[in-house]
Amino acid sequence: MRIDVVSIFPEYLEGLKLSLIGKAAEQGLLDLNVHDLRDFTFDRHNTVDDSPYGGGAGMVMKAEPWALALEHILGEGPRGASASVGDHDGEKPKPILIVPSPAGRVFDQRVAEDLAGAEHLVFACGRYEGIDQRVIDWAGEHFDLRPMSIGDYVLNGGEVASMAMIEAVSRLVPGVIGNPESLTEESHEDGLLEYPIYTKPASWRQRDVPEVLLSGNHGAIARWRRDRRLERTAEVRPDLIAKLGELDKHDRAVLE
Ligand code: SAM
Repeated sequence: MRIDVVSIFPEYLEGLKLSLIGKAAEQGLLDLNVHDLRDFTFDRHNTVDDSPYGGGAGMVMKAEPWALALEHILGEGPRGASASVGDHDGEKPKPILIVPSPAGRVFDQRVAEDLAGAEHLVFACGRYEGIDQRVIDWAGEHFDLRPMSIGDYVLNGGEVASMAMIEAVSRLVPGVIGNPESLTEESHEDGLLEYPIYTKPASWRQRDVPEVLLSGNHGAIARWRRDRRLERTAEVRPDLIAKLGELDKHDRAVLE
């Protein structure tokens, strides 16, 4: 998968070079490219913003540097071994352009799963009050445009939001997480939150690991874990319980 990120603070994205995502990039599973928006300006001050038409507080990111940066990315095209993925009968899918915005559709695990199958993702990190709408409309003609929010709160810029989305998507790309089984029982994988987890020692400051986990009885452990997932989800995220499909008798009894 190729991932391009455009930002006026490319240093923010340095964290992506660490840990599993960094390793995946080193191994060529991810082709990560960070672009400095100011490289696409030509005035002495490398200006990327101006005051908003119609008045109001704050500044707005100018259309032209964004268009040049995105054209640069389009011009480079997909690279490496993944270049032909999805290239059916010569029809290439458009790169997906994610514009982080509190006004976007809320990003969740389902969106992450969908994006994990993409060949090329581009993240446009806004700052100030955001980006001139005209370049976003223009980009919609060249990219598969997805304005995306990471939650109902406001950040200062799109970098942290992009990093959160890149991490959530990348770890679903085959090969990025060493043991794919660790993805299957996670929170949000099937609509429930994860069960409580423990490691050695079995007793710590008079607190014991639940006995069933030491029993070696896999059926009982699986049942205990599902029960705790149901209880935890009902307690902290009742909205998720409401979205679950038909529950069996045992599940219903746990929730009563
Ligand atoms: N004026 C914008 C509004 O009211 O919708 C907020 C702009 S915010 C200060 C600056 C940038 O931070 C946005 O362009 C976006 O890139 C990013 N951002 C802020 N909150 C976000 C969120 N919840 N999800 C994704 N990106 C966010």
